[in-house]
Amino acid sequence: MNILIVEDETGLAEAIGAILRREGYQTDIANDGQMGLQLALIGNYDCILLDIMLPKMNGLDVLSYLRVKEIETPVLLLTARSETEDKIKGLDCGADDYLTKPFSMGELLARIRAMTRRKVITPDINPRYGDITLDIKKGEILCGAGSVVLGRKEFQMMEMLISNAGQIVTKEQFVTKIWGSNDESEYNNVEVYISFLRKKLSMLHSTVQIKTRRGIGYCLDGAK
Ligand code: CA
Repeated sequence: MNILIVEDETGLAEAIGAILRREGYQTDIANDGQMGLQLALIGNYDCILLDIMLPKMNGLDVLSYLRVKEIETPVLLLTARSETEDKIKGLDCGADDYLTKPFSMGELLARIRAMTRRKVITPDINPRYGDITLDIKKGEILCGAGSVVLGRKEFQMMEMLISNAGQIVTKEQFVTKIWGSNDESEYNNVEVYISFLRKKLSMLHSTVQIKTRRGIGYCLDGAK
């Protein structure tokens, strides 16, 4: 297994590298953000350990760039700062986990094992129904050669409709799962988002339709 260490404290980078190699991992070390990015773009790594405060390019920028380029290698952020803001920013940018310095090597190894295991077992199956497919990574709905980006809530609703294909999904189920409430005043939101989804399906000329079951909810129709 191949691990990239991006860390400007050379002593720490070397120490991590030595321990990982002793555990049977192969390692590369970059001491600044630019070099880290270059290596991450060309190398075939199973995991990247990424410091946040780095010369030339900071870790969060490196991470965002990798995710834009659709490089999905698991990233463990190493941060000297314990502020929640950095952690949240990092997770928003697509980090898989973070570790606050100083950390024990035992903890680091445990996180690496968990991250690389997760990568192997994560199913990468895009939900399908009729002529449409949901692209989980891109948050898009695909039909034939066309595609449309869905908003977060639209995507979640479409996912629920597809996973319950053949059954009715009630407004209450949408509100509970997506808005996290059971307030009937949210039911209007459901109608609004359903109308967005219908427009997008017709833009794609899909044969799939979202049928209204009056007073109950919605279901998909149009699979051949
Ligand atoms: Ca640093």
